[in-house]
Amino acid sequence: MHSSLALAVLAGAAFASACGDEKHFQRVRRAAASSAAASRTVAAGTSAAAAATAPSRTDEASNAQITNAAEECTPYSYPPVAALQAAGVFPEIWEIANLSTAQPDVTALFQSLNGSIPNIAPKGTPAGDFSGVNYDGATDPDCWWTYEQCHTPKAKGLQSDVYNLATPETWGLTYDDGPNCSHNAFYDYLQDQKQKATMFYIGSNVLDWPLEAQRGLTDGHEICAHTWSHRYMTALTNEQVFAELYYSKKAIKDVLGVTVQCWRPPYGDVDDRVRYIAQSLGMQTIIWSDNTFDYNIATLSRATIEGNYNEILNGGKNGSYAVNGTIVLTHELNADTISLAEEFLPKIKEAFKYVAPVGVAMNNTEPYVESGYTYPNFAQWTAGTTSISLAAPTAVSTDASLSIPLSTGQTGSVSATVAYASAAATSSSGSGSGGSSGGSNGARGTAQGIVGAITAAVVGAIGAGAITVML
Ligand SMILES: [Zn+2]
Repeated sequence: MHSSLALAVLAGAAFASACGDEKHFQRVRRAAASSAAASRTVAAGTSAAAAATAPSRTDEASNAQITNAAEECTPYSYPPVAALQAAGVFPEIWEIANLSTAQPDVTALFQSLNGSIPNIAPKGTPAGDFSGVNYDGATDPDCWWTYEQCHTPKAKGLQSDVYNLATPETWGLTYDDGPNCSHNAFYDYLQDQKQKATMFYIGSNVLDWPLEAQRGLTDGHEICAHTWSHRYMTALTNEQVFAELYYSKKAIKDVLGVTVQCWRPPYGDVDDRVRYIAQSLGMQTIIWSDNTFDYNIATLSRATIEGNYNEILNGGKNGSYAVNGTIVLTHELNADTISLAEEFLPKIKEAFKYVAPVGVAMNNTEPYVESGYTYPNFAQWTAGTTSISLAAPTAVSTDASLSIPLSTGQTGSVSATVAYASAAATSSSGSGSGGSSGGSNGARGTAQGIVGAITAAVVGAIGAGAITVML
């Protein structure tokens, strides 16, 4: 009996409380499409002249020196990425990803998984229109975050979303929607402040702005994925959800050299079907517990957003976070959200005892599959160690393998005959530890259950807990 009411709410207030500004991304997609058309025209005609006028941007360090926003946001070609795109390794940027151009092993991985994905129908549209959705809000059977911020899955074997922190008095600092082409001054500022954050990068932005993405890693921020094209994930088909996550993970791997194990759903739009696919790809779902609504600055006044920030700051001062720290939704989306971030960082540091990346607060000292990237644990961080030990970004121009960690510790490389057991068959329980305590202690990416056993034809042992997909 609640479902009709639920729909009205979804089309209005609850829906607006989700993350992001779909209109912004519609503009980005239009711009990308016209820029792609323009570059095809140039390529057919005066490509040499066009190349001569493009700024010289050859590596992360030189690119980081540019601080003129217009110059920063002038498109450029970075050879490793251009080579990958020319080879058809990725779907079209800013389009909903699918597997139509995927290598056979990747398609096989999806197919092996597809049968065990929770049988939940896609909801609404990729642009976030849920007005026609008939959803049983009374029981929230899919643990649909967009409906009522559910973060403890109903489907067996799924990890809870990380939405707050086990460490008290802590502001989990996160910035979504990057890499922003004009973020150098902001990243300079964070460096001056010796402040690291968790950056949720969009795969299409990583390919558009590869050197900016590399800077995020170089500066010691924790990198997580934010899908390929920034759509509402619960609206997509299983294949599209898989491809959106897979290719965002691969873009970061190919451009930065690291395999991320965390992601944040655009607009927070996740349900158990999407969670299952993410977890199967070794990606922990990170949501938030406080929202600044900074992405709404085009429609809300700056004063309103400052008020939202201040409300969280007041909570920091009055003991609201004495048991659990918070993860706060903020963005490097545009100059306004960046300016708010700079305005408030000193105030955040004043109001909260600790300001840390999510992974650091979770003692996740090795957030990537690769070794050689070591972050401080929370005790080290609070004792003043904010430096990160890491290898330099290593872009590749040839197709790289992507390692997908498995929860079972079973090993092997993917072949077309690999199959995942169903969640029901393999899970012992939900993680349970990801709820109010803010997630398991550093166990991100090594899910307890769902990803399941490889039930057939694992080919070759290649190392503990990982399978490797060649693409
Ligand atoms: Zn976003």
